[in-house]
Amino acid sequence: MVSSAVIITGAASGIGRACAELFAARGFGVVAVDADESGLDDLAGSATAPGAAGPGAAGGEVVPLVADVSLEETGTRMTELALSRFRRLDVAVLNAGIGGTLPWEASGAIERLDEILAVNVRGVAIGIRSVAPALRDGGGGSIVVTASSGGLQAEPGNWAYNASKGAVVNMVRAAALDYAAQNIRVNAVAPGLTETPMLGQQRARPAVVEATSRRIPLQRWSRAEEQAAVVWFLASAEASYITGTTLVAGGGMTAHHGAVP
Ligand code: NAD
Repeated sequence: MVSSAVIITGAASGIGRACAELFAARGFGVVAVDADESGLDDLAGSATAPGAAGPGAAGGEVVPLVADVSLEETGTRMTELALSRFRRLDVAVLNAGIGGTLPWEASGAIERLDEILAVNVRGVAIGIRSVAPALRDGGGGSIVVTASSGGLQAEPGNWAYNASKGAVVNMVRAAALDYAAQNIRVNAVAPGLTETPMLGQQRARPAVVEATSRRIPLQRWSRAEEQAAVVWFLASAEASYITGTTLVAGGGMTAHHGAVP
């Protein structure tokens, strides 16, 4: 039986997958939630493969759950799965998210806004309220939400995504206030541009990668593993006095106003 358990949403790809691999390698039981069944199968195979945790390390266990985070029943199902399989819940990483804002005046723009809010905001709210009782019953725990630098700043043409991530940043503050007395910490990580399938189209165009990298003080996009490391820190006891905060991991992108010299 594992000694700690985590629920990770959006675990089949990108940052969520890197989180699932990191937590599993460090001995956690992982409930890996995603709408993408084949991606979850792939994760379950690789994260628990012999040697995946590194030489001599005790690898955890990954349990996949194919589900849509915007449905209320998913919150119940993922929490019950953690408790039935691992008998405990210590951490929830609410990471599933989508982009794809349409131009303001495009046909279907408001329907797209609804879809983005359903996953990025409603999905996080469902996650928080579903996992909180299990964390409380275990004496407390940690919730880490994947926000975005786009929730702290806006980009041209990305209004729906920017609105959704801005909402999440303030939802995290509110949840931190409401759950502090129950010893549940709630924080967010705000990644900058990160090499994941979400931005696959942009990554496939070297000129775009070069132009965007020039605006980042560290001069490059981040890797998903670098974001997972921030999630791990916020979830861990090392961050025991941190709640209600959004930790920016954007290579300095939000530190400047205007062009990078
Ligand atoms: P990704 O597309 O690689 O992974 C997202 C995962 O979420 C996918 O596996 C997808 O199937 C899953 N998902 C989407 N909608 C879902 C739903 N309704 N129910 C269940 N699963 C669902 O993207 P990523 O870059 O790893 O994104 C992870 C998080 O990081 C997102 O919240 C995203 O907004 C945020 N983020 C990404 C970047 C970036 O540059 N990649 C920057 C800032 C923030």
